[in-house]
Amino acid sequence: MARNLHYDQVRAPRPFSCESETAMTLHSAGIHHVTAIAGNAAANRRFYTDVLGLRFVKRTVNFDDPGTWHLYYGDELGRPGTLMTFFPWGNGAGARRGTRGVMQVAFAVPEEALGYWRQRLTSSGLEVEEAEGGRALRFADPDGIGLALTAASPPDSEPWAGGPVPPEHTIRAFHSVTFSVREPDRTRELMQDIFGYTPAEGDPALLIPSGNAGGGAVRVVEDAGTRSSWGAGVVHHVAFRCAGSAEQEQIQQALTDRGLRVTPIVDRRYFKSIYFTEPGSILLEVATDQPGMAIDEPREALGERLVLPTWLEPQRATIEAQLPPL
Ligand code: ZN
Repeated sequence: MARNLHYDQVRAPRPFSCESETAMTLHSAGIHHVTAIAGNAAANRRFYTDVLGLRFVKRTVNFDDPGTWHLYYGDELGRPGTLMTFFPWGNGAGARRGTRGVMQVAFAVPEEALGYWRQRLTSSGLEVEEAEGGRALRFADPDGIGLALTAASPPDSEPWAGGPVPPEHTIRAFHSVTFSVREPDRTRELMQDIFGYTPAEGDPALLIPSGNAGGGAVRVVEDAGTRSSWGAGVVHHVAFRCAGSAEQEQIQQALTDRGLRVTPIVDRRYFKSIYFTEPGSILLEVATDQPGMAIDEPREALGERLVLPTWLEPQRATIEAQLPPL
């Protein structure tokens, strides 16, 4: 199977292994993508490309709702571990960030880049807060999604060099996501038992994926407050990586054995996915690395035109006419 060797040398998903007769621990290589809901599509594109400097790697529609954009941002090839995607829903009616939700998405940047980013974000009009003893910058995107840039030794990704951020400062990959739930132990157990995450030394609320020195950690915090609900400015789901279809089926079975309801495998064109709701009520996905974002466009032209799956091509003119401008 073809692989992005440069990337996988560092972040290779380890194969499933059965370590004992009772424990079945899979070894996730971390976060695959994060999907959130935006308000205005053009403001979203401007922020993630012009301010954060990510590559606009795919402009397509929500396959389940073709009147809505599905916008993908990431590194040079939109590799798993770097992909942030959005459904722009127009307005924020009904949206609420709260417990049973994702409170923060953090990207890894080189430690020496933090000063650059503080200046860049501030001069873009953002309120920036220092966190983690000066090792992270916190801010929000135009719809209020909590973001952070965290100093970390990121995996050897290939950041987008065609954007406005100098290559030495670019976002490298996801650093972590923060889950806010009522009973954090139940969520932590699932992350450890099914995905092989382990608590970080000296910071047990932070779970680190196996086989991954850099990105894709999960922080689980307790919050008994008001429940989050989907709408602009709220994360929709987080996807974790699996090595391939065989491992995906094993995860599907392991989740089912745990009493969780899991979807059948869904073909998302760029990856194959299963979805389930974890015990803290956050929607999660398990997605394959292959075939990747370059399956339907040349890599040098990713994200430049609207791409539709074949079954929607006959409706291209209608779809293009109703999508909001980018
Ligand atoms: Zn997804």
